[in-house]
Amino acid sequence: MLNFTVGPVMCSEAVCAVGGEQVPYFRTAEFSATMLENERLMLKFTKAPEGSKAVFMTNSSTGSMEAVVMNCFTEEDSVLVIDGGSFGHRFVELCEIHQIPHTVLKLAHGQKLTKQLLYAYDGQAFTGLLVNIDETSTGVLYDSEMIGEFCRKNHLFYVCDCVSAFLADPFDMAACGADVMITGSQKVLACPPGISIIVLAPRAVERVTSRKVRSMYFNLADALLNMQRGQTPFTPAVGILRQINARLREIEEAGGADAEIARVAEQAEDFRKKIRELPFEFVSESPANGVTPVHPLHADAYQIFLTLKDEYGIWICPNGGDMKSTIFRVGHIGHLSHEDNTTLINALKDMQKRGLL
Ligand SMILES: *Cc1c(COP(=O)(O)O)cnc(C)c1O
Repeated sequence: MLNFTVGPVMCSEAVCAVGGEQVPYFRTAEFSATMLENERLMLKFTKAPEGSKAVFMTNSSTGSMEAVVMNCFTEEDSVLVIDGGSFGHRFVELCEIHQIPHTVLKLAHGQKLTKQLLYAYDGQAFTGLLVNIDETSTGVLYDSEMIGEFCRKNHLFYVCDCVSAFLADPFDMAACGADVMITGSQKVLACPPGISIIVLAPRAVERVTSRKVRSMYFNLADALLNMQRGQTPFTPAVGILRQINARLREIEEAGGADAEIARVAEQAEDFRKKIRELPFEFVSESPANGVTPVHPLHADAYQIFLTLKDEYGIWICPNGGDMKSTIFRVGHIGHLSHEDNTTLINALKDMQKRGLL
């Protein structure tokens, strides 16, 4: 299998090897040490400000998006939500479910968030802002520093869903002033799904520990308290946390977060160069490194996904909803090489020869 989706993605051999081991009992000094190392490397790779903390949640990243909404905001807040696709819209739905007063800044699919569009909401007494730094459904990257400046100016609590941007696009939590960043195990961390990580800057630590959330499992204050000794309130996905440890160490040894971001950027550039010969069009105004959304000019996008999967053993990422037949996505994250890009391009060229594109 050759997997170009946006998660789960291809794992390295080291990560796969840990996945094949027995899963140990976890209330031990050894597992605590693994967790504290995971935290240290996560804070380093996100460039989190001094005094930040990380918690490791056993849920997919949507669970962490929900936990953050529940722990950081109340009915007294008024938040601005950037909605440029299905992940942005998820924050809108979460605010609806948890009755957080919100205003939606709606963008068309593929549209860039410009300073001009954002500053139409300047000085309007919001208390927070929620954004997906890479709106993975359309591959659009938002400018975390430009948004951070807006948040600083308006005193907004700034939440960044970096689920697919972390380790794929430059992100400096201290520089952009984000209070919270969220990511997940199955995107650029290239581990199996099941763990999501929330990094909280000091202001967020203060906020979640001073409030009472009406939830047992999504109590971030409890998670922070346990994490002081490298533990979690409940049984976590121990095996995946050990795989995350192997992966974070691997990234550290290969030069750290910036080196991984450069590697993903090159992987994307290589693909975007090679695919130009085919009857496709790119659809993002401000492309993220992690994924390329592609619009086939003549063929059905979902049919291309099916043919590649069933006849070539190659997985690209289909889109859902109203983009299903017009857009497919090709991921550049996980254990992929430039040769893998060539294999995909050759398969597409073969499809073209067969009259399928
Ligand atoms: C993948 C992703 C998520 C979370 O998806 P889960 O299925 O809950 O892991 C959230 N936001 C973005 C931007 C994503 O790419």
